[in-house]
Amino acid sequence: MSLADQLIDATLRVVGQSGAPLHEPCFAGNEKRYLEECIDSTFVSSVGPHVERFEKELARYVGVRHAVAVANGTAALQVALHITGVKSGDEVFVPTATFVATANAVTYLGAIPHFLDCGEVNLGLDPDAFRAWLAHIAEYDSSGYRNRLTGRRLAAVIPTHVFGHPCDMERIVAIAHDFKLVLIEDAAESLGSFYRGYHTGTFGMAAALSFNGNKIITTGGGGALITNDFALATRAKHITTTAKKPHPWAYEHDEVGYNFRMPNLNAALGLAQIEQLSGFLDAKRTLLQRYKNAIAGLGIGTMLEEPEGTTSNYWLQTLLLDRDTASLREDILARAHEKRIGMRPLWRLLHSLPVYSKSPRAPLERAEALEPRVINLPSSPQIIPPK
Ligand SMILES: *Cc1c(COP(=O)(O)O)cnc(C)c1O
Repeated sequence: MSLADQLIDATLRVVGQSGAPLHEPCFAGNEKRYLEECIDSTFVSSVGPHVERFEKELARYVGVRHAVAVANGTAALQVALHITGVKSGDEVFVPTATFVATANAVTYLGAIPHFLDCGEVNLGLDPDAFRAWLAHIAEYDSSGYRNRLTGRRLAAVIPTHVFGHPCDMERIVAIAHDFKLVLIEDAAESLGSFYRGYHTGTFGMAAALSFNGNKIITTGGGGALITNDFALATRAKHITTTAKKPHPWAYEHDEVGYNFRMPNLNAALGLAQIEQLSGFLDAKRTLLQRYKNAIAGLGIGTMLEEPEGTTSNYWLQTLLLDRDTASLREDILARAHEKRIGMRPLWRLLHSLPVYSKSPRAPLERAEALEPRVINLPSSPQIIPPK
């Protein structure tokens, strides 16, 4: 049997012979009850008690002062950048190995994503390469650091905790500090992931979470901006609610706001989901062990594991093919597809997308070498039946 077939067999032994999608939501809690409460109360839209309860539960779980529920994770990123002062024409550092939303949020503001390399330990932003690149391109003037190659202001950096594995935040925080960059974390994939005991998304000025249908918990569609800063949280709530000044009947808006609030129906789903988060986390941890046992001895690659000092949520299980088995990837994906196994490659690296072909970039050799080696495996929590 070919190595690709052996991997398919091993995967079917873990997920069951009928296969499994990459990630399905699991609704085994109070979802219907809370949705019914919304409908009975008529509060289904962007005002309602479930939104406030969900924001409170989120903030409590993450250990952050404020959570502002919004329409999706991309909107949370866009608003976070906007309220922390990123302006049109600024450059914002973004890893090339992330979901396209990270760069799109920058682009929506008229700012320009500047792509960075990633490391093998966590697929996250590589701090050493980042610092070396800044030493090469950053020059200081009275208003802050500029890119001396483009003349544009270097405004912010958005590390992504890829597949839930925390980035090396200690060193990234230090770089952001040294180069006066606003730090916004893309924690869309990392609810339930901790770096040295602190939840991801609590290291910068603000962070974005996502509750899209494929994330570790879902609200259908949705996201949240989290921050410890009262002024930022207040501004985020205001600007995502069309910048309407509070008044019992008058419509007065003091800036151009967005309609980005999360509807109450979605928050109700989220409340039921967050109650089940610890069970999902346990299931994903068990799933990693099953995959590790199943592929042990195949000589095809290794499962990505949480970096030292971190606790990963293992949102998406990740097989890193060995250098000499990377050539099997297309074959593996095609066979998996035939067997209804939802395996997936890494995102196309963002700097190689036509829309971002002109964006500035650091040397990206590591990301380019890693990209062909990454395969995500089916990761739904319900693959492991609850105890
Ligand atoms: C899902 C995701 C987003 C965007 O979240 P949406 O809720 O889909 O808008 C942003 N960044 C990363 C890394 C994601 O995985």
